[in-house]
This record gives sequence, structure tokens and C-alpha cells, in this order.
Amino acid sequence: MTLAAAMAAGREAGLLPEANGDVRHHPRPVRLAFFLARLYGHPANAGHHIEVCRKTTVGWERGWQHLQVPEPPWPQDVVEAAVDLLIGVGETHDCYVGVLPRAQPSSLGRDVQVACCLWADCDLKSGEAVPRLRAFRPRPSMVVDSGGGRHAYWLLEQPLDPHEAQLLNARIAHALSSDRVGDPQRVLRPPATFNHKPCYPRPRPVDLVYVNPGQAWAPVEALRALPDPPDPPRPPVPPSPIGDRDDPLKAIPAPVYVPALAGREMGRDRKVRCPFHGGGRERTPSLHVYDDGWKCWSCDRAGGIYQLADLADGGDGQPRGERFLELQRRLDDLFSVRRTPKSAAAGARR
Ligand SMILES: [Zn+2]
Repeated sequence: MTLAAAMAAGREAGLLPEANGDVRHHPRPVRLAFFLARLYGHPANAGHHIEVCRKTTVGWERGWQHLQVPEPPWPQDVVEAAVDLLIGVGETHDCYVGVLPRAQPSSLGRDVQVACCLWADCDLKSGEAVPRLRAFRPRPSMVVDSGGGRHAYWLLEQPLDPHEAQLLNARIAHALSSDRVGDPQRVLRPPATFNHKPCYPRPRPVDLVYVNPGQAWAPVEALRALPDPPDPPRPPVPPSPIGDRDDPLKAIPAPVYVPALAGREMGRDRKVRCPFHGGGRERTPSLHVYDDGWKCWSCDRAGGIYQLADLADGGDGQPRGERFLELQRRLDDLFSVRRTPKSAAAGARR
């Protein structure tokens, strides 16, 4: 069967799986085409770049190639070129694609701007993760047999900030006892390739095995409601307005200054009810306190001691000039900071 014929057959079938969601009877290239169109087909991904990498016995080739995501619906020739490329690489190499497309050709998480899916990697070795995935609700939108386990994807109608996606991926991984692989730069094996791990007697096929029947988008609220793991992933803390490690205020741990400045208690889970959104009356705390910073996962405000103090004082969280110095004097008083000439200079340079 040629690819074109396979695609036509797939389109005719609408690639709608039977009631049980098993799609294994469809040709491998058709399942790959369907996977690509579903995983990357959200309009928010259009124009972004899918990282394609390969791995040999020598090592990784991250960013080996990039595929630019077209506007939906995808032109047939674009789909065919992508399918041919991945199948070709997969014949001889371990092949991977970036789960989240990057705004420019890149391997870096910082180039990811939106997350149109959540995902999990359930290793067969762990023994527990795959049975847990079978019982997990909401069911994933797609499941790929990776040769050594299952990759589950939940497709989102409303794209998320990649950092929130990372947090939700961590909750899913916690619920499934699966690997922590939810970082924005993550690459995973696409269907219709092979897992060439040397521990296997022969390469194992990687294939799309399940498509959730009758559900186009995953219910994100149900995933948001999952409990956090004991150690949620830390967000990047924006640079302090004074880029100076000599500032003693910056040495105060966030679990000390957040409750003091927010005027709210921190729970044992290191969360605080955020004072900065919803009139400060949220019921479920979403401001997370890390060792060296804080972030509210609902309103997206984040930072260090100065940002928090400024926000608590009605500022925009970016204190500058005279206001910064005034804030620093008050914080010095509050936390009994005694400045050496060197650390005083940290503020004076502003
Ligand atoms: Zn907030």
C-alpha cells in the first residue's frame, strides 16, 4: 500500500476508531499522519517548529531538523513529507519529536510559547504505570506504544502556558507513578518508528495504539483538580531587579518572607492563598513558595522578595528608582538587615 493510498483509506475511515478506541488495524503511516495532525494541529501551533532529533549509539542529535507547522488543515504534501522523514529516520535511528513546537527552530524550552497538550510517559519497567494509565480518568486523547511503555497525550482546546502545562504534567505523573517528563523541551518517540534500544534483541515498533473515541479535547479542569506531587516543579524565577548576590535581602528564603509580606500563613504544602487575584479571596491556594522565589499558578505573578513587597504595596511588581530604595529600606527594617558598605552599594547603584 502506498502512503497516498493509506492516507486515502485513513481519511475515508475518518480514522475514527471503533468503540474501544483501538486503532491498531490502521496502517502505520496513516496512524503517524493522524498523530501529527492531532498533536500539532491546533491553530495556536501554526508557524511554530517541531524539533526532530535522532539518537545513535554515539549520542543525541538534538535539533537535527525542524518541521514548520502549517495552518490547518494541513496540505497533503506537508503531511506526506513529514511522514516520510520520520519513518525514514526511524528505520535506522531512535527518532524523537518535540512534544511542544518551538517559536523558532530550537531545542530549548524557553522557545516554547504555548502548550496545546499534556502528556505522560508510562514505563513498563515500573510495573504500575501502565495499569494505572488504563484506569486513569479522564482518558487520554491518544496513546502511543513506545516499545518500552506507553506515551499518553491529552489534547487541549485552550492552549496553556508551558509552565502550567509542566505543573499539570507533574500532577498526572504523580497520579500515574510515571516518569517526570513534563518539561516544555521534552522530545518523545513518534509512531511508525522503531525503538532501537540495544537491550532489545530486535528493534521494537513504536505505534499509535489508541485514540479516544468521541472526545476531541481533554477536560482540562479534571486534570487541574489532580493533587500536586510533594515537590512540584520549580518555575524559573525572574531575575531580581538588582542583579546582585551581595544583597542580604536576597538571602532570605522565600518561606520566611512570603508569609510575612503576603500577611498570610503558608500551608505545609508550601502554598499560600494568593492576595493578588480574585480580590484576594481564593479558596484553594495557588501561590507556591519555593526556596528561592514564589509563583502564583493562577494569576501568573512570580518573583522574589522585591517583587512580592512591591505588589503587596500596590505596585506593579517592578519597583524602580526612588521607590525601589524606599522599599529596600522598609524591608531592611522589617527583616533586621544590617548592610555592609558592599551590600549598601547594591541598592545605591540603582
Ligand atoms: Zn494569584
